[in-house]
Amino acid sequence: MTTKSFFPRNIYAQPNVNSSRVFLSPPRYIQGPGVIRNCGLYLQLINANNVAVLASKRGFSAEASDVLTSLSKEGIACSKAEFLGECSREEVERHANNLMSSKPDCILAVGGGKLVDAGKCIAHRLNCQVVIIPTLASNDAPCSSISVLYTSDGVKDLVEYFPQNPAFVIVDTEVIVNASERYLVAGMGDAMATWYEARVCEDNPATSNLVGCRPTLAASALSEKCAHTLFEHGVCAAENVRNNKNSDSVERVVEANTLLSGIGFESGGLALAHPLANSYTEITRLNKKYLHGEMVAMGTLAQLAMENSKDLEKVIKFFIDVGLPVNLEQLSMSPLQKSEIDMVIETAFKNPLIKNMNFEVSKELILDSIKKADEVGTHFVSKYGDEAYRRLHS
Ligand SMILES: [Zn+2]
Repeated sequence: MTTKSFFPRNIYAQPNVNSSRVFLSPPRYIQGPGVIRNCGLYLQLINANNVAVLASKRGFSAEASDVLTSLSKEGIACSKAEFLGECSREEVERHANNLMSSKPDCILAVGGGKLVDAGKCIAHRLNCQVVIIPTLASNDAPCSSISVLYTSDGVKDLVEYFPQNPAFVIVDTEVIVNASERYLVAGMGDAMATWYEARVCEDNPATSNLVGCRPTLAASALSEKCAHTLFEHGVCAAENVRNNKNSDSVERVVEANTLLSGIGFESGGLALAHPLANSYTEITRLNKKYLHGEMVAMGTLAQLAMENSKDLEKVIKFFIDVGLPVNLEQLSMSPLQKSEIDMVIETAFKNPLIKNMNFEVSKELILDSIKKADEVGTHFVSKYGDEAYRRLHS
């Protein structure tokens, strides 16, 4: 099936480059304990009458079953589509083809980041709305209007841009607190990059956000709030989720990981952290072992090292406290594995987003930054230990 590409520069860009400020977000974001059980009510607001629910096999016997109950209570017709685990071109086309004859007016994507991204792709191909119910707060995917597609080995393949953000994002914090602590922590790794990448774009007038325009003040403000929320509440939220307990800190961190981070990266812009994180997926042995947010954490440290930022040590200490990787060894790599490091650098160097940095970025500079971040991270591990990391990775 062919799909129209919505590379956004064509839509918003003006002859005078970077003269437009554009802000993107979902029309409605709903978060709280138990909200999943009201999703049938919410769907009435967008006149959804024929819904295809996308979930994993596990999801259909857990959260997605509450979703189906709520839909049937409101008399909304629904069908089931089982997601096989990778947001790949094949998986997306398979679902789009299977669902085409039933003409759903809404795809309801219930699951983790890759499922969420696949849901957006399928809805776009079927020209219908998409509603996202993330079951993990591990990534910045739910609120954005882009999807990252991977090969069946988990290597980043391409990014698709859509003309709209999801119609609703519904986050049930009862579901999030019953998921593993490691997912919430990975979400913090993803979310911590938001402000540091948006800050680069805000400070450099030659840069643009994900739709090729200048970031708004709103995007910068909520990106900064995202980082502050993590520093203030991250450790407490992780501890609460470890004990399957909800709290004000959990609610704040879930919002930072999902809403602030999702809007922040798309409308605020990216710099080095995400391109570098996505380049780590080239090393296929890492892809089953590490989550997106854990790779982004490593990308953020290299970016801060490259900027000579005074925040490098503060962020490393925070990552150690919550259990994110802070050196190559914790990402099952070594500075001595030259061929792997070179492959990561080669891929990152080709990504046009790294040009958002406020200075010329050479391959040598990327290598030096990875090494510097690794050295400081290793020093901090010897000073503060790696208890949280070991707990999450045992
Ligand atoms: Zn991300």
